[in-house]
Amino acid sequence: MKMQQFVVIGLGRFGSSLALELMDLGFEVLGVDLNEELVDDMSAYLTHAVVADATDEEMLKSLGVRNFDCGIVAIGSDIQMSILTAILLKDLGIKTVVAKAISVLHGRALEKLGVDRVIFPERDMGVRVAHQLVTPNLLDYIELSKEYSIVELRVPDGLVGKTLGEINPRVNYNCSVVALHKRTGVIVAPTAMDVLDAGDIMVLIGSNESIDKFEAVIN
Ligand code: ADP
Repeated sequence: MKMQQFVVIGLGRFGSSLALELMDLGFEVLGVDLNEELVDDMSAYLTHAVVADATDEEMLKSLGVRNFDCGIVAIGSDIQMSILTAILLKDLGIKTVVAKAISVLHGRALEKLGVDRVIFPERDMGVRVAHQLVTPNLLDYIELSKEYSIVELRVPDGLVGKTLGEINPRVNYNCSVVALHKRTGVIVAPTAMDVLDAGDIMVLIGSNESIDKFEAVIN
């Protein structure tokens, strides 16, 4: 079942951006922060925003936090607050608890508490930007495992006008184009006849090694 209601604890840079995006995506969001100014700024954009201390169990109960599908602990810099809040959200029985960690140890502590998903925004963004800087046409990527990834590549000038059959990434480089994002729309599972146009984005799946080889040759 799709998640509908989110409670975001901590409306700093990360929490507020996450909360606003969830609202844009059409979900209900309760934002909680100790800081009255932040709550005031956000209250017009969120379903509800309240000034509260998330380590106050009675307060969380009175906000009905247990009925939310997902709780996000977006407190980073104050590790003690982050951990206490995560414990309370788990104890209250929220189905899914996600928490932001600022260090490996902080992440390990959150995992030990049973947090369902620990995220490291700064670390992950650093890695992502490094990849984008060294690979000219790389727009984004998802690591499926240590070995395999899905990447989004802008079609380089050298491939414009060619068909996927001519390039034949599956045979020549052992990676597959699973989607083509064109100005006119997305082609899922494109065929050998599909032509690459300027501005197209290829979504490629394969081992990191084969994707690297493909990128090196096409650039
Ligand atoms: P960012 O780097 O994303 O800005 P911060 O860790 O600096 O994240 O901000 C965390 C936010 O969490 C702050 O706005 C702070 O007021 C809020 N916060 C910290 N402790 C609590 C708490 N116990 N209850 C509610 N909000 C909290």
